[in-house]
Amino acid sequence: MRPNLLEWWDVPEPRLRDDRDAIVAPLAVTRCDLDLSIATGVAGFEGPFAIGHEAAGIVTAVGDSVRTFAPGDEVIVPFQISCGQCDRCRRGHTNACTSVPFRSSYGLKPVCGVEFGGALSDLLRVPFADHMLVRHPNGHPLSQTASLADAATDAYSAIQPWLQREPGGSVLVIGGLSLGLLIVQAALALGARRVVYLDDDAARCGLAKALGAEVHEARPRADMTPIGAFPIVVDAAGTTASLHLAVRSTGPSGVCQRMYGGFSETTPVLLRHMYGIGVTLRVGRVHARAELPACLDHVVSGHLHPERVLTRRARFEDAHEAIKDPTIKVVFLRDGIE
Ligand SMILES: [Zn+2]
Ligand SMILES: [Zn+2]
Repeated sequence: MRPNLLEWWDVPEPRLRDDRDAIVAPLAVTRCDLDLSIATGVAGFEGPFAIGHEAAGIVTAVGDSVRTFAPGDEVIVPFQISCGQCDRCRRGHTNACTSVPFRSSYGLKPVCGVEFGGALSDLLRVPFADHMLVRHPNGHPLSQTASLADAATDAYSAIQPWLQREPGGSVLVIGGLSLGLLIVQAALALGARRVVYLDDDAARCGLAKALGAEVHEARPRADMTPIGAFPIVVDAAGTTASLHLAVRSTGPSGVCQRMYGGFSETTPVLLRHMYGIGVTLRVGRVHARAELPACLDHVVSGHLHPERVLTRRARFEDAHEAIKDPTIKVVFLRDGIE
């Protein structure tokens, strides 16, 4: 199967398999940066598998023991499957739930080995529904919250602990794809007094500026003069060069947060420099279910607008083509859904 071939397939309808399950019809699905690299073949994932993992939609059926949700409820579906009951889930480490295979997620069978279905489908089966599902807030469009299933929450969690530790701290974001822009927005929403955005893509730089960042239009290079000495730096470009620039632009006792997981087995890191000035380097996957509600609170209170990073609204039916659009971030919408 060609790695970049996308087709609509008729598959058996997902059904309740356990009395804790729910079935959800995705109505608004946003494209994660990973989906773009899957769809264009860059990720090199072997098909066939269902795609899409940032969904908001409506509950269509629930198992007998589901108490919190009923058919007709609007919900956000976190992309990682978690049970809410195991030791790790209880600690909020919902990306490593021990009730399901490691990395269990929608739309990402190649990384977890299990086909849970993809958000770009008529229906999704949601295990552990009382725990998994998050209620979509009344009065907000589904296109605003779909990306909280992964990217918007990932962006929020990448910056929130550091701005809590250093309120108002200045932030450098080295951008790449849409995640860097969601981080710019989260940083400003959480009170960063200055957000600097570095990227060589004119469209992303334009959007970063519109969101309120100070923009440096340049490709991150390892040998570049440091952009400053920031207490908080986020590398969302995801290259070795951007990581080196990010670390060298982190100030004494600062934090450098690296997004995405595309590392080689032994990625070179500037440990001697980091030791000298005391840089904390943080990497790790988001805990989508555990961290989503705090992010959602900021959407509901009007501080955070993940929908401002959307640059294309496409029909759900056109997803097989629109998913490859090089635009910043796409939302796929069922007819009549905003
Ligand atoms: Zn994702
Ligand atoms: Zn669990």
